[in-house]
Amino acid sequence: MTMIDETHDPARLSWVDSANGHADFPIQNLPLGVFSTGFPEDKRIGVAIGDKILDLRALAHTDLIDEHWRLALSLEGLNAWFGHGPADATALRKRLSALLSDDQYRAKVEPLLVDAAKVTMHLPCHIGDYTDFYVGIHHATNVGKQFRPDNPLLPNFKYVPIGYHGRASSVRVSGEPVVRPKGQRKPPEADAPDYGPCRRLDYELELGIFIGKGNALGDTIPIGEAADHIAGYCLLNDWSARDLQAWEYQPLGPFLAKNFLTSISPWVVTPDALAPFRTAMAPRPDGDPAPLPYLSDDADQASGGLAVQLAVTLSSKAMREAGTAPHMLSEGEAASAMYWSAAQIVTHHASNGCNLQPGDLIGTGTLSTAERSGLGSLLEISTGGKTPIALPGGETRSFLEDGDELTLWARCVRDGAVTIGFGSCSGVVQTAR
Ligand code: MN
Repeated sequence: MTMIDETHDPARLSWVDSANGHADFPIQNLPLGVFSTGFPEDKRIGVAIGDKILDLRALAHTDLIDEHWRLALSLEGLNAWFGHGPADATALRKRLSALLSDDQYRAKVEPLLVDAAKVTMHLPCHIGDYTDFYVGIHHATNVGKQFRPDNPLLPNFKYVPIGYHGRASSVRVSGEPVVRPKGQRKPPEADAPDYGPCRRLDYELELGIFIGKGNALGDTIPIGEAADHIAGYCLLNDWSARDLQAWEYQPLGPFLAKNFLTSISPWVVTPDALAPFRTAMAPRPDGDPAPLPYLSDDADQASGGLAVQLAVTLSSKAMREAGTAPHMLSEGEAASAMYWSAAQIVTHHASNGCNLQPGDLIGTGTLSTAERSGLGSLLEISTGGKTPIALPGGETRSFLEDGDELTLWARCVRDGAVTIGFGSCSGVVQTAR
């Protein structure tokens, strides 16, 4: 498990003035990402610090960092660096924290900073495979109730971290337009489907998990080692076409209702940065089965949860034109919504010998709180379209309309720690092509 060290010291300040008190990227965070300043092909690894980005490719060409890290940090994606594993990740964090806080390095490091406002962000790595899980128990219960009022949770949910293989080619970084998908739509009252633009376009509020060190094909990842295979976290929006989904999902699960786009926030928040925000997993309700031994780990149950505040805002085209602030759709704490921890997800994924690789992306599944104020999808907020919500200015929404901008937010707040954020994950819905 990651430890609290000098990099988390609330008293530590950066000589990058904008980092001190920054809502997302103080020196206690130091998330990794990939950016370009000129040609979009000229991708570089960087670390966010306040409203600046430290160019790690440029840093790799100096004598300020370990020579064994230089190759991986000079590449155009984070896969090789993720493969270095947790000891190097921790050591790099300590080094970056020193370089950005100690005035003795300022003269050499300051020229390697770029303005975050002037860059283009890219996917943090090549995503070889993307898997989406379904560990949010309140979401699973809420959605299950719409289809099976008496039996919302299927019996496997409390034994198996449920997941499906998604599509990596359509994972994009925040800001990618959301072209309304087309597909087969069959309302319950229709005899047969037709083909056309999705009428029930939705989002799913999720956390993304990036795999660090992989496992060889045929090998498993013991639960006690799973945390060492996680390189970091991001926000993930599993855009969902509910009408397509309802018609296609049986018997094999999600397909075209999901794979038209998945958006992620650009910055990878490391497990080290999240160490002060570790929390116990929510206790299993009385009568629930204990996890099978391969998914059972006392240390993970004691500290495998994350105290992350999640929020979702919606801003319609009319609201933006009127200068109205975005409408808060939901707010809440994700940790309590995960029935399975990140470590259990990773261990289960590899439990049959499936090889995970550095840079693979895993979605947690929609994270809804138990309260109606923290629901992670419009399917739940509008009760399948039966209870539309009112937006400022008089509009209503059951599902997303063309022109809507939908944004996910995450922030970690805890007494005695400096607040850190994930940045945001956003997309504007465009008319079907
Ligand atoms: Mn999902």
